[in-house]
Amino acid sequence: MSSPEKAPIVATKYVYGFGGGDAEGSAELKNLLGGKGAGLAEMSRLGIPVPPGFTLTTEACIHVQRNDGAWPPGLEVEVRAQLARLEELRGERFGDLERPLLVSVRSGAVVSMPGMMDTVLDLGLTREIVEARCGADGGRESGFWLDCYRRLLMMFGDVVLGLPESELVAAVAEARREQDGAGGGRPGSSEQRRAIAALEAVYRRYDKELPQDPSAQLRAAIDAVFASWSNRRAHEYRRLHGIPEDLGTGATVQTMVFGNRGAGCASGVAFTRNPATGEPVLYGEYLLDAQGEDVVAGTHTPRPIGAGAGSLAEEMPRAYDELREIAKVLEQHFRNMQDVEFTVDHGRLYMLQTRTGKRSGPAAVRIAVEMVDEGLIDEREALRRVEPQHLVQMMAPVFDAAERERARKEGQLLARGLPAGPGAASGRIAFDAQRAADMAHEGGPVLLVRDETSPEDIVGMYASVGILTTRGGMTSHAAVVARGLGKPCVVGAGDLQVDEAAGVLHAGARAIREGEWLSLDGTSGEVLEGRLTTQPSQVLAALRGKGEKTRAALAFERLLQWADRERRLRVRANADTPEDARTARALGAEGIGLCRTEHMFFDAERIPWVRQLILARDEKERQKALAKLLPVQQADFEGILRALHGLPVTIRLLDPPLHEFLPREGEAIARLAADMDVPIEHVHAKVESLAESNPMLGHRGCRLGLTTPEIYDMQVEAIVRATCRLVREGVEAHPEIMIPLVGVEEEIARLRRRTADLVARIAQEEGIELDIPIGTMIEVPRAALIADKIARHADFFSFGTNDLTQMTYGFSRDDVARFLVRYVEDGVLPYDPFARLDTEGVGQLVEMACRLGRQGRPGLKLGICGEHGGDPHSIEFFAEVGLDYVSCSPYRVPIARLAAARAALGTGAGMSDEAIGR
Ligand code: PEP
Ligand code: MG
Repeated sequence: MSSPEKAPIVATKYVYGFGGGDAEGSAELKNLLGGKGAGLAEMSRLGIPVPPGFTLTTEACIHVQRNDGAWPPGLEVEVRAQLARLEELRGERFGDLERPLLVSVRSGAVVSMPGMMDTVLDLGLTREIVEARCGADGGRESGFWLDCYRRLLMMFGDVVLGLPESELVAAVAEARREQDGAGGGRPGSSEQRRAIAALEAVYRRYDKELPQDPSAQLRAAIDAVFASWSNRRAHEYRRLHGIPEDLGTGATVQTMVFGNRGAGCASGVAFTRNPATGEPVLYGEYLLDAQGEDVVAGTHTPRPIGAGAGSLAEEMPRAYDELREIAKVLEQHFRNMQDVEFTVDHGRLYMLQTRTGKRSGPAAVRIAVEMVDEGLIDEREALRRVEPQHLVQMMAPVFDAAERERARKEGQLLARGLPAGPGAASGRIAFDAQRAADMAHEGGPVLLVRDETSPEDIVGMYASVGILTTRGGMTSHAAVVARGLGKPCVVGAGDLQVDEAAGVLHAGARAIREGEWLSLDGTSGEVLEGRLTTQPSQVLAALRGKGEKTRAALAFERLLQWADRERRLRVRANADTPEDARTARALGAEGIGLCRTEHMFFDAERIPWVRQLILARDEKERQKALAKLLPVQQADFEGILRALHGLPVTIRLLDPPLHEFLPREGEAIARLAADMDVPIEHVHAKVESLAESNPMLGHRGCRLGLTTPEIYDMQVEAIVRATCRLVREGVEAHPEIMIPLVGVEEEIARLRRRTADLVARIAQEEGIELDIPIGTMIEVPRAALIADKIARHADFFSFGTNDLTQMTYGFSRDDVARFLVRYVEDGVLPYDPFARLDTEGVGQLVEMACRLGRQGRPGLKLGICGEHGGDPHSIEFFAEVGLDYVSCSPYRVPIARLAAARAALGTGAGMSDEAIGR
């Protein structure tokens, strides 16, 4: 490329040119150039038509931020030299009345933050230039020049001068209304002039003006783009997505090409594959005679690119074919689905941006699997590209089919919009982001309903279970953000009208008010009145053998098979019933890591016997109750062991305190006394004697096992007899007995001895040789501290990280919600430690217990069965400290399988490039 005017020798190069046949930068310099700058440089290198420009580096941004806006030495000279190069390439000059050079300035961070940062288009226009151009050629293009100037006034006022966007928008709308009272169609020159005058009036109101010197405009716009790195919404986005604060943004200055210059002109955005379904076809939207911002702003409903009436393929077949070719080149080059922006200027196609495209869960899986089949990537890369969150989306609920049908028939279908984010959601509606957040805080699901969303709405979008907009397309802000957050989303439901001020959503004659129920299907685009029941996804049904194996289900399965080959952590499930155990197995669980037996006690038919046991006045009564419970417990265990034949099942002996099985209310106590035929005072006395101030720290777990050994004895007998029976039937049953809440060596020593003796005695009685491992949970911090001693008596450890978190923080599991939300909102805690393991504190105990435990008993088997077993971040940690398995709820098994594979590949649990569109 022609070398720019010789700059003085400076230590750092802050500007990289591109276009005009070559580029100084490349995709490799993404950290320096930001995503947009690097993408443009790389496209230039590939010979793809890109309007020439240059990128100011993220280092320049950081310098400017750290030096109160002062530019680093040499930057100005570099910018001037690059401008001179652009002028030469285009045969235009900055500020020229005949052939004015116009440029755009756009932000572009290393990590893309859609809609979070700012852009200014059409820089370089002044009043004088506009008038000169309007006067030329008999005013043939005056509409175009005025349109550009209006856009410049809008964007410059908003982004650079900080004028209230709402006032700027209102001024233009008002001017248009006054003109002819009709919307739509390209505004005429006089209308444009009125809009410009209205905008200038807003400027005057705030004592501001658009600099009439193009260089001053450029300087101010670059400064504003750099400053936009620190604006509130960008900061908020980084906080929500865990993006570091010190990356800075690049600023790309690019010569304008015009999609708004009349016939043969258009602007659009496209994905090289469908971002909602993953279907391998070019997918996107465009507008004739418009600039790119119009497509993504959600203010116009754009036309489709690929097919149908008014599509780009139909209107501009040559540009469409070229775009398809370029899409192929880009995919082959980047080996990933791309999200591109383009402009057609008098029939000539230009690419303005390429970056990795964000995608929904189903699309992420399909694209990854198909790209392996196409030979573009290998299986490991496919695993790196699919987020655990993507699988969550694929397993997202759908509406109950019969209920939806009925709702349709009864006229509850209010509108159909674009299916922008898959999944079904019902919630109470809110029209304002803050209101949505407040309502969610008060409890219950909330749907955010807006004409269109903007970055200011992010908090409300985050708090809602689904998002509905009446305007905008698949690439609108609402659509992009919702897909990133994995929320069901319907956009462009144009038959609905939002009256935000009155707090009403109008659907024809119907009015739905704030707080009333609405249902959204982000997979079909339907909006239904009222509340619908949701049910598991088709993929889930197929995996459980209860539905057709769709393409999506097959892709999901293949990906997980690849995951199974990579991961070292095994994945088990927490399940208490044969039905749950079967689900877990169908979803790939390699055993049960926690079977909580107390749930079996709560069964309506059994609870009387449990109560009889607790209220027993003598040994005889107690034995009678136990004798009733034994066979039913045995049947429970048979059911689960049978469902998991061939795989291990860890059965935990009773954990909760006994008072949980007794009623608290006077009336219920009286009823119980009558049912059991015992004096009411006796029940009262028992309830009182069992009452505790801190039940979570009370008479539960192994403490109960030591003081009331008959219960554990009954459970152990039930396990052994169930096993013997199955073995006789030829079923491979592998129970493991687990003792909860151990904190003292003597607790596990005694209970292990008693349990082992009982197992041996009953097995002998049954005449079957059994080897049932006996282990313990590590859920009391003291147990972690003396894990070497505990390990002498345990064949395995399973970390109960729910209790371990409770006792390490001193936060009651039952009461923590009252302040935890505030803690996380206010940043006192970075996240909820009951959902994601606190690796810094609780994790230290886990790590120590693993080390000490294996010192005490080499080869000790280690697992985790707290809620954290299904959390991808926590799984990464568990893989690191060398656990053998994680155990989580059945529906999280696929997520854990993928997370474990990603941990083995060193990919981590953070958002992938695909999720955040790097
Ligand atoms: C735990 O404490 O992590 C655990 C799995 O046990 P529970 O949740 O039943 O107390
Ligand atoms: Mg516990």
